[in-house]
Parts: sequence; C-alpha cells; structure tokens
Amino acid sequence: MILRFVGNAGGRYELIYNDGVNTATGGFRICGTYNIHVDPGPNVLCQMQKYGWKIRNTDIVITSHYHIDHVNDVNLFAEARKGITLICPLSMLDYKNTPITEYHRKRINIVIGKVNETWKNRGISITFTKTKHTEDGFGFILNMDDKTIGYTSDTAYFSELKEIYKHVDVLIINTMALNHNYKHLNVYEGGEIGKGIKKVIFYHISKHIIKNWKSISEKLKNKYNVEPILAMPGLELKI
Ligand SMILES: [Zn+2]
Repeated sequence: MILRFVGNAGGRYELIYNDGVNTATGGFRICGTYNIHVDPGPNVLCQMQKYGWKIRNTDIVITSHYHIDHVNDVNLFAEARKGITLICPLSMLDYKNTPITEYHRKRINIVIGKVNETWKNRGISITFTKTKHTEDGFGFILNMDDKTIGYTSDTAYFSELKEIYKHVDVLIINTMALNHNYKHLNVYEGGEIGKGIKKVIFYHISKHIIKNWKSISEKLKNKYNVEPILAMPGLELKI
C-alpha cells in the first residue's frame, strides 16, 4: 500500500497565501486494492498533475468535515469518474449549504459517516472516530490490505485520542499549530497521541512547522519516542 500526499497544508492562512514555503492543500491518497482520496481541498488537479498521479483511478473519496480546505474539489472526482463512492458527514448533503452540485450528486454513491459506526464494503472497513472541531465531522481508522491507518482529521486535543488510535500501523495527525490551539492539535499533542505507533505522519501543517521542523522532530524523538514523518507535497510512502 502507498500513501501519496497531494498537499500537506490546511487552515485559512496556508490555503490562501502559501508564501514561499512548500505547502499546498489537496489532501492525501491511500492507494492499495482501492484508491482512496481523503479531504480534497483546493489544488487537487494541479498537484496531481505535477506528480503524475491520476484522478480518474479514484474509487472512494472521504471528506472528514465541511471546511473548504477539506472539501473544495470534491466535485472533480464525480466529474472524472461516474459511480465513485463519497463518504462524508451529513452536513455535506445539506441542500442550502452543500459543496456538491446537484449534477455531481447524481453521479456518485454517497455514504454518511457517523462517529463510532463502521462501514464495511469490498474488503475495506472504516470506523469513524470522534473529533472536537465541527459538529458532525469525523476522523477514521481504515483497514485495507492487512494495514490499519488512522487519521485524526482536524481536532482539538482530548484525552481519548491516544486510546482511539493506539492499535494503528500508521497515524496521520493534523497538527496545524506550534502551541496551544483551541480547534487544532499542536505538534507536541501529536507526539503524545503518536507514542508507540510505528509510523506517525505530521500533516495539515503550517509554514511555522516546516521552518522549525529540525528542532521539532528532535523534541518529538526525545520526549515522545516517535519517529516523526513530515508530510510534504509529493511524498510517497510505502507502508
Ligand atoms: Zn477544519
């Protein structure tokens, strides 16, 4: 299985400015028996073309919550390929508020993800996990091809997070902040959650994290005993 990072950033500032540091939105892909695209923020096509990755072979799209840096390009997938599955929270289907056009909605199969429920289909299982960010958003634990991948999505820190993800092979953590942030994890909270997990990927990051990565990663290794991986655009990771 391969993880492919189309982008690495999130949050309003990184989304709009991207000022000189290598950040981009667009989400990431979990590629195995099925190709799964997670949180397609703006820039999906440009970024995918840059790395030679094909949008047309996407089977499943997951949007964890209805914020622009996670959903903006969702219609592209329905345009590229009829019959894909979209897994999303209920708010994505609110008629007045939806980012999915009526035309594209007819081209896809929609599955509503609910926290603490599991969706199983075609050899994949996805358990939707709790976040503290938006009302009906979710993180997830995905099993495919004998691997278990955890994704925190955007969330503030809460004590159960460590317990929720402790059995995963790979954990992708959204850590936008360097210090305390009431809606997102900071890098050291990410270290706390990732303790004991084989591969811990720091994703949905800001330019401050990239600029200070050398000292941050040293601290993460020493204090939390994790081998941190920084998600940069174009990163392909065999797991
Ligand atoms: Zn968000």
